Amino acid sequence: MTTPTVPFRQLHQDFHTSEHIGNVAAAFNPDEWAEMLVRARVQSVNCFARCWHGWLYYESEAFPQWVHPHLQQRDLLPAMITAAHKRGIRAPVYVGVQMCNAMADRQPEWRQMHADGTLAGSPPLETGHKGPLCLNTPFAAFMDGLVRELCATMPAVDGFWFDGVNTQDCVCWHCRMEMLERGIDPADPAARARFGHEVVTRWTRRMSALVRSLKPDATLFYNAGHLGPGHVAMGDAYTHWEVESVPFEGWGFTHSPAVMRYVRTTGKPVVGMTVRFHTNWGDLHSFKHPVELEYECAQMLALGARCCIGDHLHPSGRLEPATYELIGNAFRAVEEAEPWCDGARPVCEAAVLTPESPVPGWGANEPAAIRGALRLLQEAAVQFDIIDATAELKPYRLLILPDHVTLTPELAARIDAHVAAGGAALSSGSSGLKTDGGAALSCLGIERVGDAPWHPDYVRPHGVIGAGLPETEHVMYLRGQHVRALDGTEILIEAYRPYFNAAWPRYAGERSTGEVVYPAVTRRGPAIHFAHPVFRIYHETSAPWVKQMVTNAIRSLLGTMLVTHNGPSTLRVHLNEQKAEKRFVLHLLHYVGTGLGGKRETMTDRIPLHDVECSLSVRAPVADVQLVPQNTPLAFHQRDGVLSFTVPHVHGRQMVAVAPEAER
Ligand SMILES: [Zn+2]
Repeated sequence: MTTPTVPFRQLHQDFHTSEHIGNVAAAFNPDEWAEMLVRARVQSVNCFARCWHGWLYYESEAFPQWVHPHLQQRDLLPAMITAAHKRGIRAPVYVGVQMCNAMADRQPEWRQMHADGTLAGSPPLETGHKGPLCLNTPFAAFMDGLVRELCATMPAVDGFWFDGVNTQDCVCWHCRMEMLERGIDPADPAARARFGHEVVTRWTRRMSALVRSLKPDATLFYNAGHLGPGHVAMGDAYTHWEVESVPFEGWGFTHSPAVMRYVRTTGKPVVGMTVRFHTNWGDLHSFKHPVELEYECAQMLALGARCCIGDHLHPSGRLEPATYELIGNAFRAVEEAEPWCDGARPVCEAAVLTPESPVPGWGANEPAAIRGALRLLQEAAVQFDIIDATAELKPYRLLILPDHVTLTPELAARIDAHVAAGGAALSSGSSGLKTDGGAALSCLGIERVGDAPWHPDYVRPHGVIGAGLPETEHVMYLRGQHVRALDGTEILIEAYRPYFNAAWPRYAGERSTGEVVYPAVTRRGPAIHFAHPVFRIYHETSAPWVKQMVTNAIRSLLGTMLVTHNGPSTLRVHLNEQKAEKRFVLHLLHYVGTGLGGKRETMTDRIPLHDVECSLSVRAPVADVQLVPQNTPLAFHQRDGVLSFTVPHVHGRQMVAVAPEAER
């Protein structure tokens, strides 16, 4: 299969339009519409065939009853595709899948049913999206027919963007019958979840096979608002990944970079996707701060992804010029950076093994341990991927197992072998310990006794782990593990007990007695274990001493880090390599948020940094270091495999291209 065309600048144009709105697309003019996209530098636009209300936006012969009842421009979708293609813009077709108000009302037997017999989605007398529909019902045949008609009647189909394809937990008649026939107990929630995931996986693969039989070159993506191991496991059905993530509500600012760091390890192209709205999708008359949009796109590029910005076409069919000025400005900065991003791959020294389950939940559900690890490692300038249990470990000098990674005996053996072969490991909480469902890592040299009996307990940082911290008790906010160090394992930091656990009738015992109770941080050679869930603690509390201790441990395990700098912890640094251009590109991003204490944190400022001293671990002799895209040469020196230079200004984003000497 050839690599799909996945351009850098993409637009996703929602058109979820209620049947209670009249004159739909009456003011749509295909040339005006497409010229607006050209001015905004759009290279690809997702165009609507079927929205979440369940309506179609073209003259369907097969399903006339589902065409939007007030659609004035009856050939809206083909007109969009033709106008876009005339200007060299790709136009994949958007198809809403499970979420569907019209069918939920008119074909309720296709809706997912909860175990208590209620139908999934909003109740009939409440507003909100109804559905979701079950992919194990005759609804699947409707979807086949729709896709066949679109492939047969549209002027061209560049790809399909299927939306709302989520795991399901359904006991509708079709699901119940199949589970019973196959000896699966519908009353067992875990068995039901596995079955629901199987139904979605099966449908997804079948749909991809159908599309490929009709349009072999079409791109294929199935959106669930999140991508985890469960989605990657059915990656054969996808041509690329798109990371829908809006820095509001459940996603926040950590979801997008965490998922991009994960899916980029599959080798498929990745598109980061945000919206131009201030809050969430459909917030039409709001505008994201331009600096925030610039930041999100810069981060996507730095993480090796392409950029997609979401908009929503007004029911009239007319585009708002102010919106396209906002999008165009963001895409101008993207276009400027493209020569240093095309074909770029991240250079990583560490990998974080995700504790996320291979059976996905609904929506954004990456674990708090991953969110904490992401923030902590980014602030410490560590260059890392996020991986799952199937990943190859060899490329990574350091493996990080955050808080509650459950290991199979096979994976534990692979990690032990990796450490024995010269790698390093840092684990925390119950990761790497023998638990009910998990195997132990021998390389840690510790044994689990149980959950820590004292909470909260305290650590007294000292030595390598405590560098930069006063040697006195520091609280660990979440309960840790009680471990015992085996012979040959060093106890680096010990845990101190409180007077008593706060439980009725005693309270306010949260003070250290000064009595050592069990190890808090242990080390055996290149393997360090923190008994507390330090990444979740950092996610929940941002405790600076926790960050300092973990950072000290990482530095101690890695020795020389790939990138170091003297900037603040708000500076993000990402090192990529462009093999074809024979150069490294360092992305420095400095954007600072406002809204501390508010419900919506926003990025509104590029606070300039001056004279940022950077060091890169580069063994090959370097010939040239330049600020790009300015093409300004930088003075540098290189000694013992460490390249050093000073970036005079970082105003938002600054890239630095590093070219090693040509091989003789
Ligand atoms: Zn069902």
